[in-house]
Amino acid sequence: MKKIGTFFVVIAAVILIAFLAWDAVFNKSASKSFFDMDTVISVEVIGKNAEEVLSESENCINELDKLLSRHDADSEISSLNRNSGGTLSYKLVGYFQTLLDVSRRSGGAFDFTLGAVSDLWSFGYKPKVPDEAELKKTLAQSGYENISLSGNALTVSGGIIDFGAVGKGIALDEIRSILEKASVREAVISVGGSVLLIGNDSKVGIRNPLGDAGRSIATLTLSDVCVSTSGSYERKFEENGKAYHHIINPETGYPVENGLVSVTIVSESGILSDALSTACFVLGLEKGIALAEEYGCEAVFIDENKNITVTDGIQIEVTDSNYNLVSYEQ
Ligand code: AMP
Ligand code: MG
Repeated sequence: MKKIGTFFVVIAAVILIAFLAWDAVFNKSASKSFFDMDTVISVEVIGKNAEEVLSESENCINELDKLLSRHDADSEISSLNRNSGGTLSYKLVGYFQTLLDVSRRSGGAFDFTLGAVSDLWSFGYKPKVPDEAELKKTLAQSGYENISLSGNALTVSGGIIDFGAVGKGIALDEIRSILEKASVREAVISVGGSVLLIGNDSKVGIRNPLGDAGRSIATLTLSDVCVSTSGSYERKFEENGKAYHHIINPETGYPVENGLVSVTIVSESGILSDALSTACFVLGLEKGIALAEEYGCEAVFIDENKNITVTDGIQIEVTDSNYNLVSYEQ
C-alpha cells in the first residue's frame, strides 16, 4: 500500500515538473521599449520565442522607417518623391492600394500627398503658422489625384507623399506577422497612438484628449485587433492665442476644426485603423462614422465638449466622470 502511495507521489511530481518546464518554455514573457519612427515603441509578448520576437520586432521597425520615412533621403518614399514616382517594391504596392482606396472613399479627406503642406507648418520642429499665399500655392500642387498606380508602377504628378498617418499602423501589421510565425499567444505592441492586442479580452485605455495625457478616460475591451487614435493633442502649438495641431483639412491646408478632439478606430488591419483614424478625424462625426462602418470598423469619437460617441460593436467603460457617453442618432 505504501509502495503504491509513493508511486503516485512520484508520478504527480513528474507531471508537475513537466508542466512547469512546459510553462517556462511556452509562457516566457519579455518586454522592451525603444524610440523609433519618431515615437516611443513598446513590445510585450508571452510565448515560446519571446526574446527573439522582441529583437525581430525592433529590426522590423528599423527597416520600415528606412522604407517609409520621407525625411530619410535613402528611403524608397524619398526616392519616389524625388523622381516623381518609380517601380514599387512588393510591400509598397499593397500599402499604396490601401491608401488610394481610403483617399477615394473618404472623398479626399484622407490625403497622403500633403508632405509639403505639413512642412510649411514645421510640425515637430519649430511650428509656425505659414504664409497664407504660400500655403494655398503648395496645397494647389498637392492632392492624391496626382498619384496613379498601374501594377507596380507609380506616377506622382504633384504633392509630396507622406506616410505620417499610417506608418505606425503598418508597423503593427508587420509585427503581427512576426508574432504569428513565432506562435505568440499574447502580446501588446504599442507604436505611438497605435496598439496591437493579441490574446483574448485585452484592455486598452483611451488617452485623455483634453487634459492629463497620462490618464485614460475610457477603457476598451478587445481581442486580436489593432487600435489607432488620432488626436488634436499631437504636435500641438499656439500662436497669438490660437491652438493648431497636425491633422490637415485638405480643402484648406489648415488644421481640422470640426469640434472633434480624438478619433479611435478598431480594425483587424493596422494600416486601416491608422488611415481611418486620420480620415475620420478630418471627416467629422457623421461622415466619419459612416466611413468607419463602410470599412466594417468600430470607432470612438470624442468632441471638445467631452462627449463620447461610439459605434454599436464597441465594448467601452468610461472611467472619467467628466466625459459622457452619448448615443448616436443617425
Ligand atoms: P495620425 O496621428 O495617424 O492621425 O497622423 C497624422 C499625420 O498624418 C500628420 O502628422 C501628417 O504627417 C499626416 N496628415 C495630416 N493631415 C492628413 C490628412 N488629411 N490625410 C492624410 N495624412 C495626413
Ligand atoms: Mg493615423
